[in-house]
Amino acid sequence: MKKLFPICRSITGNGVRKTFEIIQDYMPLEVCECPSGTECFDWTVPDEWNIESAYIENEAGERIVDFADNNLHVMSYSEPVSGVFSLAELKEHLYSSSDQPDVIPYLTSYYKRRWGFCLTDKQKRSLPEGNYKVEIKSTLEPGALTYAEAFIPGKSEEEIFFSCYVCHPSMANDSLSGVVLNVFLYNYLKDRKDNYYSYRFVFVPETIGALVYLSNNKDRVLEKTKYGLVLTCLGDEGAFNYKRTKFGSPLDTVVENVLKFSGCEYNAFDFALPGSDERQYCSPGFNLTVGSLMRSCYGFTEYHTSADDLNFVTEKGLRGTYDMYCKIVEALEGNYLYRNLKPYGEPFLSKYELRDTVGAPKFIGDDLKILLYILSYSDDNHSLIDIAEKMDVSILDVIRVAETLEEKGLIQKLRIG
Ligand code: ZN
Repeated sequence: MKKLFPICRSITGNGVRKTFEIIQDYMPLEVCECPSGTECFDWTVPDEWNIESAYIENEAGERIVDFADNNLHVMSYSEPVSGVFSLAELKEHLYSSSDQPDVIPYLTSYYKRRWGFCLTDKQKRSLPEGNYKVEIKSTLEPGALTYAEAFIPGKSEEEIFFSCYVCHPSMANDSLSGVVLNVFLYNYLKDRKDNYYSYRFVFVPETIGALVYLSNNKDRVLEKTKYGLVLTCLGDEGAFNYKRTKFGSPLDTVVENVLKFSGCEYNAFDFALPGSDERQYCSPGFNLTVGSLMRSCYGFTEYHTSADDLNFVTEKGLRGTYDMYCKIVEALEGNYLYRNLKPYGEPFLSKYELRDTVGAPKFIGDDLKILLYILSYSDDNHSLIDIAEKMDVSILDVIRVAETLEEKGLIQKLRIG
């Protein structure tokens, strides 16, 4: 995250390419370029934007605003400009946030040509009358939109995808925390043995990139996608926030079960708009089963400002999120429907060393109860998440006990739930 944070990214341009170059030290990526002018559903890939430098100088020749100090100082997609402007003329191109006078806001103008500088409201108000020299050395010309993906095949062709967006400049929690988590999830799943699902890791510029991705992979996405999660806002230490899938699904039940028994504070709410790329993934033509598990939901105080930086995101926050996602993966991978192989009465548990003959149960308390439930409900109709929910226990505990019963030959996997 420290390596990626300083890069000036946008929906197109060399910042995204540089980001993928760095990520490729940690995971392989298939990088794709979609030319400007390409039509994707109702949208058109815009010209590519790149920026070299930008500043505002006062009459004394002092650089009072400099892109080199903070890439948020330039409105993303600013067209090039070079000239001298009066304060009144300049102010038409200055953006600040009166609600938060000490931070630089993050602003973009992808689809209307303009130029602008973003600065703290405090600084904007303190500018004296006079003439200001302004320069933005940027280019806006036909090029490409860059996105990337990686794939880990599993036993099944059914796919779970993790999607993050790579279009924000120096924004740590919004955008970049999702990018970093995606890299670590790839590595977790690459090392994991016997994955049932196939996994796809998608890195796209938000909105237009998701649309390009969907347009280029429409048939496969529609045919193979089982579940998806949009990764963003994952690095702070706030409570978890889960945005459910549009129509409800076992994914929601699994995620909420894992959250409930994790001991962490959380909140779950129904699919809502606006949001991030779930807007595209869940548009009626796709209606994919996609949720989004965040920490502090977008709209937190630091959101889209210079305060969303490497101090706001913490190692503890990111690590806690990574652990939560790994648990969700384990829960999805372990959520089978089993068949009871001794369905006529309960099996004689002590024969299988599942219970001591002296009456001190080997599985005591909760585990014994879970064991009895699994045996009773392994009837071709109930998956382990159904059993966990019926009992109000963690699916991860149910999976652990089911694995023991399977080893003992008492139940057998039928299919994934
Ligand atoms: Zn954002």
